[in-house]
Amino acid sequence: MAQPTYKTHLGMVDILPDDIRKWQYLEQLIRTEAELFNLEEIRTPIMEQTELIVRGLGKLTDIVSKEIFSFSRGDDNYVLRPELTAPVVRAYVEHHMEQRGGSQKLYYIGPMFRAERPQKGRQRQFHQFGVEVIGSDDPLADVEVIAFMIHIYKKIGIKNTTLKLNSIGDPESRDTYKAALKEYLKPNFEKLSDVSKERFEKNPLRILDSKEEEDQPFIESAPLITDYLSDESLQHYQAVKEYLTDLDIAFEEDPYLVRGMDYYTKTAFELISPDLGSQDALAGGGRYDLLVEEIGGQPTPAVGFAAGMERLLIACDELGIQLGDEKSVDVYIVTLGDAARKWGLSHLPDIRDLGISATIDYKGRSMKAQMKDANRENARYAIIVGDHELETNKFTFRDMVNSEEESISFPEILERLSN
Ligand code: AMP
Repeated sequence: MAQPTYKTHLGMVDILPDDIRKWQYLEQLIRTEAELFNLEEIRTPIMEQTELIVRGLGKLTDIVSKEIFSFSRGDDNYVLRPELTAPVVRAYVEHHMEQRGGSQKLYYIGPMFRAERPQKGRQRQFHQFGVEVIGSDDPLADVEVIAFMIHIYKKIGIKNTTLKLNSIGDPESRDTYKAALKEYLKPNFEKLSDVSKERFEKNPLRILDSKEEEDQPFIESAPLITDYLSDESLQHYQAVKEYLTDLDIAFEEDPYLVRGMDYYTKTAFELISPDLGSQDALAGGGRYDLLVEEIGGQPTPAVGFAAGMERLLIACDELGIQLGDEKSVDVYIVTLGDAARKWGLSHLPDIRDLGISATIDYKGRSMKAQMKDANRENARYAIIVGDHELETNKFTFRDMVNSEEESISFPEILERLSN
């Protein structure tokens, strides 16, 4: 019988050692920069209750209606988290995090799952980092969240990005706008795409988000939501723009940028890169002042963003930005004979105790093969040990970069390595 061949599921990707260094570099950078912005990490389970995600994201969203991976076990319905805003808000409410005082300034890094049709920059398991600031309605919070997002891309060297900005107002201004939008679309209802027809009654704002060709002429001359903002929403929006300008963060206003769910309010933004092809969104976010209450907490304003890590790495590849160093090891102990191998094994800890990485051949290969292996591993130094070295207690310490060698004792080697 033929052996079965096992593969990852469609759209799910292994991250192999050759790629892991850029991931580790990126994760470390996000953590370091998050600390600078006084953000605290939060980690929630990979699985949540299906009801939370349906309620949190809204039944009508693509994610909930088509893209969640869910299953049940006993009486419980599980879903692999498709995003982290609803789970973070769930954690905030469940653990009464408001009692910690102040606004909760949180960040996360981790895998998300959506059953989308895979293509470049779109996977079924992908990774996001993001920020959620819960407990402030101040436009300054919106701007700090955006500033952090932009800061990460700048720090990495991805400079050619466009920040798109909009305000979708508070529920009252949005209701007035929805009515105006429906009024405007009504005469052409029959010409809209099927998806947009479906959205017309329940969620007309999402029509502005449509990628269907037949909808575009109607979207292009649709009324602008920014003309319908209440005084308070308008003031908030003006303040966001003013603070962004003060920080020299360039933005483009896009009155058709919407976040479809009802709990989204005021600020909406997206970061686009021309280096990504059709999946050009690096990150997106906005204010969601009504979500905490929707999930069962006290009314609490909040703002956040989520950024795709695979897309960030694709942009780096396109731009020739290398993240992290090449793999290397500080010391490779090259041994000849059993006694030397034993010596090598027992002296590895002395080197590692200094915080210096060290390895040894695991295969009993010839000295020539070991030297070749040391080169393959990008070893900085080799310590060469044979019977003669063991007798004299002097070992060949080889600088692999400039090919210089000296014959010295092990304590002298440790001294050289520590300098
Ligand atoms: P969203 O949570 O849909 O606002 O997405 C935020 C960011 O996550 C997007 O701008 C993308 O960079 C990234 N993203 C979303 N869905 C996927 C996916 N299926 N594969 C890879 N990245 C994704």
